Amino acid sequence: MIEENVSKILAALPEGVELVAAAKTRTPEEILRAADAGVKIIGENYVQEAQRAFELVGHKVKWHFIGHLQRNKVKKAVKVFDMIETLDSLDLAKEIDKRSAQEGKIMPVLIEINSGGEPQKFGVMPEETERFLQEAVGFKNMKIKGLMTMGPAFGNPENARPFFVETKNLFDRIKSLEIPGVEIHYLSMGMTNSYKVAIEEGANIIRIGTKIFGPRG
Ligand SMILES: *Cc1c(COP(=O)(O)O)cnc(C)c1O
Repeated sequence: MIEENVSKILAALPEGVELVAAAKTRTPEEILRAADAGVKIIGENYVQEAQRAFELVGHKVKWHFIGHLQRNKVKKAVKVFDMIETLDSLDLAKEIDKRSAQEGKIMPVLIEINSGGEPQKFGVMPEETERFLQEAVGFKNMKIKGLMTMGPAFGNPENARPFFVETKNLFDRIKSLEIPGVEIHYLSMGMTNSYKVAIEEGANIIRIGTKIFGPRG
């Protein structure tokens, strides 16, 4: 099942688009099966779950953090993850920078955009992104590589399209700033029900859970 799902998704993936298997609540064994089927990147929402899966799967895949990262988890997170997709505050940037320096690492991050402007959700508001970026580029042990968004949840993925378009426009705008030392390359958006729309609108990372592993229990 997992193997078949991964094969189907990978076979239909346009060139230049990377698949992240969103693995929250899945067992290390399920994650290993996805890896063996060809998944190159695992997305984890929880540091502890990732540590457990990492023990089994290790460096066979890259690990992306895609949940809300609490500052007291950053020290552990920088040991496991190859990218943090959910940078959403300067306090968090400061902590990632500090802990990455202690690990002798430079951590790639994406800025999480609250594209729906929803006050109860995490992420930088679209209109604040440029200023946020200017303030966050100064950290030496953290490298901003692009943007990530969830967007509001919809039954019909067409309703997500305007939020993907807005995030792509932001992506193009910050790319065009050509800030020295900053290479804006990744745009992570789209999940099981919306990834096709997201790819049409310029996503080059998609994060898929249900369509790989089945419904969450
Ligand atoms: C769970 C999750 C996904 C994947 O959701 P599915 O609908 O199961 O594909 C993608 N991104 C994030 C941040 C998630 O938490």
